[in-house]
Order: sequence, then structure tokens, then C-alpha cells
Amino acid sequence: MRSDSNPSNPGFSNLSDEDRCSCGAIHHVAVGTVVIDHTAIDQLVAYGQSHRWSRPCVVMDANTEEVLGSSVITALSHAGMRPERFYFPERHGLLADETSVSRLETMLKPSSADAVVAVGSGVITDITRFVTHLLGRDFVSVPTAASMDGYASSVAAMEFGGMKTTSSAVAPSAIFADPYVIAMAPRDMTRAGIGDLLGKASAHVDWRLSHGLWGEELCDVVERRVAEPLVDVATHVREILEQSPEGVTQLLRGLVESGIGMAMVGTSRPASGCEHHASHFWDLLASMGRHQHAPHGLQVGYATHFALRLQEWALGGSAIAPSLPLPIGPEGDEARSWFVGHETEVEAVMDEKRAFVAAHSDAWPTSSSRWELVRAGTAKARSIAPLVAGALLTAEIPTTPGFLDLDVATLSATFRFANRIRARYTVIDFLEGQGLLNEAVASVMAEISA
Ligand SMILES: [Zn+2]
Repeated sequence: MRSDSNPSNPGFSNLSDEDRCSCGAIHHVAVGTVVIDHTAIDQLVAYGQSHRWSRPCVVMDANTEEVLGSSVITALSHAGMRPERFYFPERHGLLADETSVSRLETMLKPSSADAVVAVGSGVITDITRFVTHLLGRDFVSVPTAASMDGYASSVAAMEFGGMKTTSSAVAPSAIFADPYVIAMAPRDMTRAGIGDLLGKASAHVDWRLSHGLWGEELCDVVERRVAEPLVDVATHVREILEQSPEGVTQLLRGLVESGIGMAMVGTSRPASGCEHHASHFWDLLASMGRHQHAPHGLQVGYATHFALRLQEWALGGSAIAPSLPLPIGPEGDEARSWFVGHETEVEAVMDEKRAFVAAHSDAWPTSSSRWELVRAGTAKARSIAPLVAGALLTAEIPTTPGFLDLDVATLSATFRFANRIRARYTVIDFLEGQGLLNEAVASVMAEISA
């Protein structure tokens, strides 16, 4: 992957549209331009002119219109274009769900718009990404907060029927972010962005673990792209929380890099492991009225504390001598009680996991020396756990029960059952397959409650 950074403007990079990775594949990167700079809106206009936009439509909600959307409309108008305004009037509670998708689709389908610009953070970007993909169009992203990693991603985090799903969608063709706007976002959105980025630490270990145990494909170019900004952000959380334009630029760059990494391999694997499954589990409880909705990144950050401890329990010592994993399922009553109304989705996930395990069973480490190699393969990823745990605390994301209203019983169920949310293999599956999950979760819960 080539990234020609302009030294006089470190927020700007022209990205090559493809790169041959160590895994042998050529990964296409749809995001051709990333601008994180105070001239971002001028550069957006220049981009529109060079692409001969005449009727761009600008998608936003009540908040993002105020902070940036209306100035984007003005700037595009001054350049001779006739922008259309596609507006969600919500200030709170807008979800990337069926309703929002059909609202935007209804607005976009009959329109003569020749470009789509999403001005907003997670939800607006995901709705736009999903709908433009449905309609076979491109879009350009104009972020308003460093709150999540999905800006450059090609997958959309949607919530259909209450269940968070990652749907294939489209990456933006360009990203234009003004750090002075990002710096004005609510501080909790920046905390959420920090939480989402620090979650890459446990996602990384899960990816390495599945690579070692099952030979799941791992691309080290993408791996580095996601891991390097993680260390930078973890060592600068205090500055980032002050919301200086430099601090938020560093965070947003890290988040965009993660999104590019996901887009390169076409899945969220490089940036999402069991900490994300925990967050999706809490979203599911929220959709059932059993928990309050909370920001994605704060949930991910909180879950990362537990995920890192579980991974250390499983991989840190030499206590485990893995035997061939136990068969997956059938579901016990306790697991079922957390997924009432979602049994079919859970069964589909378990089927997919069974198929994954069956397809890769030759790779399973059958000797202790091979198991040592698996552990060693995760060692570098695990080595930053103390740094990341400290950074989470600095971002006021504690380890104690009760944060985001999650009590010990819910936390414990989360790390025993969240692997039923996604087919992706993580440390939870590993421990469950070894018959050690309950013991590991009880030990982690005892640590944090002590
Ligand atoms: Zn995330």
C-alpha cells in the first residue's frame, strides 16, 4: 500500500487504488483521497469541480447541519453547483435501521443528484454508505467527529430487527475532515473514538489467535496499518482528550486507517474481535429493552478491558494444553434466555462457526510445540495490553462493574455468550471449545470486582 503523505500537510494522503499484500492478494482501496486539514471544505469543493458535480446532495441531521452541513451547502453553491439538502430532523436517537434506510432511499431514488456527500459521524455515514450501495452510487464522507472507525470502511454497521449486523456496502471515494470542526464535537464522542480505536488491541489478538489455531488468513500489511496508530493514540490519550486540532487529527487518522484496513480485506476482522461482539450483545439487549443504548465506542472500550484479561488468561501462561475443541452447541437454557426472539440468527451464526472449524480443522495445533508457536504468534499483539488498559482508564473508561449500567451478572453473561452474535472466531470460542470459558470469565470477574 502506498500512501504519499505530503510533509507540509500531514493530514493529506493520496492513496493508491490497490496494493499487493503479504497474503498474496491484491487489495483494492476505494478511498482515493483522505484530507484531514483545515482546508478540507475547500478541497471538497475542488474535488466536486474536478468530478463535474452539478447537483450534489448533502445528507445530514439536525446537529451536523448546524456544525458543518449548512456551510458545505453554501460552499458548494458558491462554486456554481446546485446542492440538494437531504435532512434527518433528529437530534437524538437516529439509528442505522430499516426506517432510516427507507427514508433516505425514498429521498435519493427519484432525485437527479449526481453526487452524494454524507456530513456526519457514525449513523449518518452508515445509512448513506448502505443506501448508496443499494442504489449503485458513490459517496463522499465529511466526518464531524472522531467517534468511530467506519469512515473509510466498506462495511456498514446496521441495526436490522434490533440485531447489529455488518452489511457489505461501499467505501467513500474520498474523505474530507476539518480538524477544527472535529475538535468541537462533544467530548464524549472523542472518548468513544478512543474506545473504538483501543479496541483494536483485543481484535488484533483474536485475529492472531484464529490465524494460529485455524490458519485464518492474516494480512500483515493491513495488520500494521491498524496496529501502529493504536500505539500512537494509546500513548497520547491525555492530549487527544484536550480536543486540540492536532490531537483529534491523530485520533481520526488512526480511525480512518482502521477503516482502510477493513476495506482492504473486505471484512471488519482487522479491527473487530470479541470486544465488538460484547458491544453488539449490549446493543441487542438495548433493542429488547433490557439495557440502555450507549455509544458504540464507549461500549467497545469498556469491553476491551475484559477481552484483554480473558486473552491473557488464555494465552499468557502455559496452563492450557489445548485439546481438540468440543463440538459447538446445542444451546443450553441459560444461553437461550439471552437471545429470546433471535434464536434463528444465533443458530445461523453457530452453523457458520461449525463450518469454519470444519473447513480449517487441519490447521489445529495438535502438539504442545505447535501450541507454543500459536501463543508466541500472539505475544507481540498482547504486549501492549497494559498500555491500552492504562489509556482506557485515562479516557475515563473504567474496569469496574456498573459503567454504562452493566452489572456483574450481565458482564459475565456477555463474555460467556457474545460469541453467538457473530461467526467470527475469538478467544471466547477458544475458551468455550476447551471447556474453560466459565472458569476464565469467573476469574476475570473476580479480578475486576476485587
Ligand atoms: Zn467499532
